Amino acid sequence: MPFTVHGLPVSQGIAIGHVHLISHALLEVNHYHVAPRHIEDELARLDEAVATVQGELVGLKAVTTSGQAHSEVGAFVDLQLMMLADPMLVDAARQLVESRRCNAEWALVQQMEHLVEQFRQIEDPYLRERQADVVQVIERLVKVLLGHPGHLPPKRRDGLGTIVVAHDLSPADTIGFRDHNIAGFVTDVGGPTSHTAIVARSLKIPAVVGLHHVRDLLEDDELVIVDGTRGVIIVAPGDEIIEEYRLRRSELEIERSKLNRLRDTRATTLDGESINLMANIEGPKDLPAVKSANADGIGLYRTEFLFIGRDNLPDEDEQYEAYRAVVKAMPSKPVTIRTFDVGNDKALNGVHSRMEPNPALGLRAVRYSLSEPKMFLTQLRALLRASAHGKLQIMVPMLAHAQEIDQCLALIEKAKAELRAEKLKFDEGVQIGGMIEVPAAALSLGMFIRRLAFLSIGTNDLIQYTLAIDRSDEAVVHLYDPLHPAVLKLIAGTIATGARYGLPVSVCGEMAGDLAYTELLLGMGLRNFSMHPGNILEIKQQILRADLGELAPKVQRILKMDEPARIREAVERLVA
Ligand code: PEP
Ligand code: MG
Repeated sequence: MPFTVHGLPVSQGIAIGHVHLISHALLEVNHYHVAPRHIEDELARLDEAVATVQGELVGLKAVTTSGQAHSEVGAFVDLQLMMLADPMLVDAARQLVESRRCNAEWALVQQMEHLVEQFRQIEDPYLRERQADVVQVIERLVKVLLGHPGHLPPKRRDGLGTIVVAHDLSPADTIGFRDHNIAGFVTDVGGPTSHTAIVARSLKIPAVVGLHHVRDLLEDDELVIVDGTRGVIIVAPGDEIIEEYRLRRSELEIERSKLNRLRDTRATTLDGESINLMANIEGPKDLPAVKSANADGIGLYRTEFLFIGRDNLPDEDEQYEAYRAVVKAMPSKPVTIRTFDVGNDKALNGVHSRMEPNPALGLRAVRYSLSEPKMFLTQLRALLRASAHGKLQIMVPMLAHAQEIDQCLALIEKAKAELRAEKLKFDEGVQIGGMIEVPAAALSLGMFIRRLAFLSIGTNDLIQYTLAIDRSDEAVVHLYDPLHPAVLKLIAGTIATGARYGLPVSVCGEMAGDLAYTELLLGMGLRNFSMHPGNILEIKQQILRADLGELAPKVQRILKMDEPARIREAVERLVA
């Protein structure tokens, strides 16, 4: 009997294949006593396992650096290698073997539980998630100790792929599978930012995660369909269902190849209005994706990723190199670089260790930059120096007060004066813009328009602050609503005011890359979208079918509505 199981869709597409169950080695660990005369042997067994896993990871690392896998995967492998070398992990387990006279795998699991508990108490969600790396490294060690054969699936000859079903997958696991005709990933745990999700997306393999006890429901070799777009798996499907999904899969493939043909087409609406589609990036590593989508520029470079997760901050030269690399890769296209937005969920090592009562409302973004003028000045100097190489624009996040802009502008002038004195080149006319992310800013645009050259609406934060919902708090995620009438009024008001005063306005929050809102934003008058580069071609396709003359009056009517269900229905009807 066919049945379906629902989870979270984290990597789009459809896969049809046979189940390959990955065992959960950690559940198989027994505890036994080791006689004192065998302790040395037990420690040697542990050391050997560590050396084996180190070798495996170094091998995987070589694959990632040879360009056969995504660079993010390489970073995960590095992190796991670091953990393996950390005394908190292996040395602590060695001590347990000695003091409790226990077997090595049991000692490792004890130490893992202790570390995971410590990670759980970390406030920062990114660091908290790293507990998964600890578990994955220990699981690898335990598998070696238990003498498990490698868990690579057999290569199939029937043309169908393999659906890997696991409790969780480490990035290293996923690279190991690369030559094994893996069609899909299915896991018990995980969310949109889990490793499996990130890696599956980068390898373009459909994946559904967060299916709880799915491993208990499936048998090895069973036929399943993974619908990574809807977040469903269909177990033991009949011939008709398989045929239907085959058809949908080929339609999706045709869609995808058609999209690539739009790469060099200008995003122009049916009534001839040209729209700029720009990319959001976190650093030079994202440039290949920007190139393959042929973005019209960089609308948001989140520079904080250069600062977070490290002990020593990048100096002026390191920053200059990173900014220059991006500017030079985008000749004659605008590159909007945002000054670092740390704080809240993007903490700097050691800086936000004090317990802030409410980090989202605390010292973050421009507030943090202005509280560390030396560090801010270093970034401004690096940005200005990079401006000598192309069309660089500087953007300041989370502004709410006129004096914040004035202080930023004064620091930029100071940086310029220093560079002039040092005879270092920069673009004298570099444009300075600000992000509209706080309702107070969206409601007092005059003071921004008088001081700045462009605005960009950060809808992620604008929604968070308008609705008083911490965007990193799962408990209130259901209240995060881009279509709330208050949010729509603030976005539309900002776009309209910018147009009235001739100031360019873009949207660079997630809404810009979401097909559900393209017509709505176009109808509000938005002409500059900035999004994850992977979304650009899909959004372009939607724009090519849109007619602004038709959309504008419909959107004006939506903006007068204040009943959420009616707004939602009307926005859905806008989609061509
Ligand atoms: C936003 O808030 O919409 C935005 C683009 O900035 P970030 O997501 O980096 O806070
Ligand atoms: Mg923001």
